[in-house]
Amino acid sequence: MCDTSQVRGGTGLAPSPDQPVSLPPGLFEALRRPPARNSTARSLQDFDSGVMDVCSTDVTRQGVLKNKYDLTCPRTGCGSIILKSDVGMWVEGAGVEMDDPNRPLHPELTPLPLPPATVHWWLITPSPMEFENIGFTRTVRSNVGETSGPTKKLKFLICAECDLGPLGWTEEGGKEFWLACSRVKYNIQ
Ligand SMILES: [Zn+2]
Repeated sequence: MCDTSQVRGGTGLAPSPDQPVSLPPGLFEALRRPPARNSTARSLQDFDSGVMDVCSTDVTRQGVLKNKYDLTCPRTGCGSIILKSDVGMWVEGAGVEMDDPNRPLHPELTPLPLPPATVHWWLITPSPMEFENIGFTRTVRSNVGETSGPTKKLKFLICAECDLGPLGWTEEGGKEFWLACSRVKYNIQ
């Protein structure tokens, strides 16, 4: 009969029951790290100069700023690519009521200032074909620009893979699609 099963305890390496097992240095950190395909994605607040760090100038149109990096879903572990670089145009524009005040905001979504405060947006035109991946909610009525103004029929933009949102909005049947700069991540690869 083979004796290999009896080396247990003989080497001095086996932990005694009342001693905690020590992990190799760095292993715990490695396990906590997000999956590799999301490791180059940064939130807007990770950039020192905020939105200016994620803009690139459009060589064909003076004064127009485009998204310098691919935009991805903000959910850690999802990382679905929403928009390729240089497709969206940076606009500081009117805020839009996107969040239900009666429901807690998803922890991976940044709160947005309410109208009439302005918000930084990526404007995508003229069709959803410009996106790599995007999902839409069903139509809701919401205020655009000012709380006392007329409501409009909006659809919210959500991640096509994991449904996280709202990340932005569009008017029903409209040709303009607005993604909140602070609700996407930036793939700096
Ligand atoms: Zn997602």
